[in-house]
Amino acid sequence: MIITIDGPASAGKGTLAGKIAQEYKLTYFDTGMVYRAVGIETLLANVPAEDEVVAERFAKELTFSKMMDLAQNPSFRGPEGGKRASIVSAFPSVRAALLKMQQDFYKNPTFADGSKAQGVVYDGRDTGTVVCPQADIKFFVTASAEERAKRRYKEYQTKGITSSYEEVLRDIIARDKRDSERSTSPLKPAADAIILDTTHLSIEEVFEKAKEIIDSHQKNLAI
Ligand code: C5P
Repeated sequence: MIITIDGPASAGKGTLAGKIAQEYKLTYFDTGMVYRAVGIETLLANVPAEDEVVAERFAKELTFSKMMDLAQNPSFRGPEGGKRASIVSAFPSVRAALLKMQQDFYKNPTFADGSKAQGVVYDGRDTGTVVCPQADIKFFVTASAEERAKRRYKEYQTKGITSSYEEVLRDIIARDKRDSERSTSPLKPAADAIILDTTHLSIEEVFEKAKEIIDSHQKNLAI
């Protein structure tokens, strides 16, 4: 089974993806990591993320294990990693170079310990439209920019990352704009995606809704 979860930053995709993966014993691919990895490489190389030639080279050379190593960098999950990921992800050449790595994962899905999985939950912006348009179930998870900024601000606080709510909101709005206005794979729901607006829902409520949809899909397959 392949499930894709797309949507804007901090809408709750990662948390939902993790819960679904655990419930249905699927492996999980957070595709934002491939763009964050390239963004962090530009940071380590001390070049601006806007340098497409360098970003493309890093994207072409990225491997799964290199990505996992780069994920240890303290800036990987922070505002700098997010901003750089958003900038490099707008380059069509970078997206093209990173597509195969994301698609290879569903062809041979494995858990972190190398054991085989029966399927994948993808989380990203274009996983239902570009990475895996043949997915069994596609969710598009969204929430208001203010609610998403509140969530990300809280997350930064627990991680000890210094930032103000206003800064986080500004960053979210800028990322939404870059993600939805780029020429390649702009952020938009797949035509057959199920929209989940999480603005007024707890994670448990969102998970229950998703579970109902997945269970009914599986029941229909069994008939
Ligand atoms: O989801 P996350 O915040 O980790 O993603 C970082 C950035 O990577 C996003 O702001 C977006 O610009 C980009 N991204 C993308 N396509 C994906 C996943 C992430 O363009 N499938």
